Amino acid sequence: MTLAYLGLGANLGDGRQTLKDAVVCLAQQHTITVLAKSSLYRTAPVDADGDDYFNCVVAIETALAALQLLTLCQTIEHHFGRERTYRNAPRTLDLDILLFGAEKIDAEHLIIPHPRLIERAFTLVPLIELDADIMIPGYGRADSYLPGVASQRIEQVASCQCPLLARARKATGSEISAPGELSKPACS
Ligand code: AMP
Repeated sequence: MTLAYLGLGANLGDGRQTLKDAVVCLAQQHTITVLAKSSLYRTAPVDADGDDYFNCVVAIETALAALQLLTLCQTIEHHFGRERTYRNAPRTLDLDILLFGAEKIDAEHLIIPHPRLIERAFTLVPLIELDADIMIPGYGRADSYLPGVASQRIEQVASCQCPLLARARKATGSEISAPGELSKPACS
């Protein structure tokens, strides 16, 4: 079994709902087990067009090989209506393999750790939320790269509207957080 981390992003249609549905879809796959899900984040597009993105990261366990997992991710993207029009085009759902155990892979269609993982707040911040001490094979501690993404806009958002969460948010009084200063919602 391999512990892997997937990055999810969406900026077409109802991105918030898409990510919730995509996590359910992942959890329904018999070849993977979803172990944990980060909070939901709203982020500014980086090197991309369109509206703000919604992003999250999930930790999964799988017996699949990395390439099989990539195929599964692409199949799910396709089910969610993903069209590959041009590089970094707005997308209904983007699923990236960020980490795959301790493996380093440099194949034609798969690079792991994901080549842009350490450059983007929208992957780094939710990943560190799931494991504050996480190491990136070949790069070292993930949190050592946070200063490099500090200028990128990222805010933690509620993924449910339950009264408990609303009360907690009112009490803490903040929605927008800088990377590394994120408050944890009561639920997400
Ligand atoms: P994107 O437009 O971000 O979905 O990029 C998809 C392309 O990146 C596909 O052609 C994949 O084969 C390739 N790719 C390389 N490494 C990865 C990775 N770690 N996770 C997902 N896609 C990857």
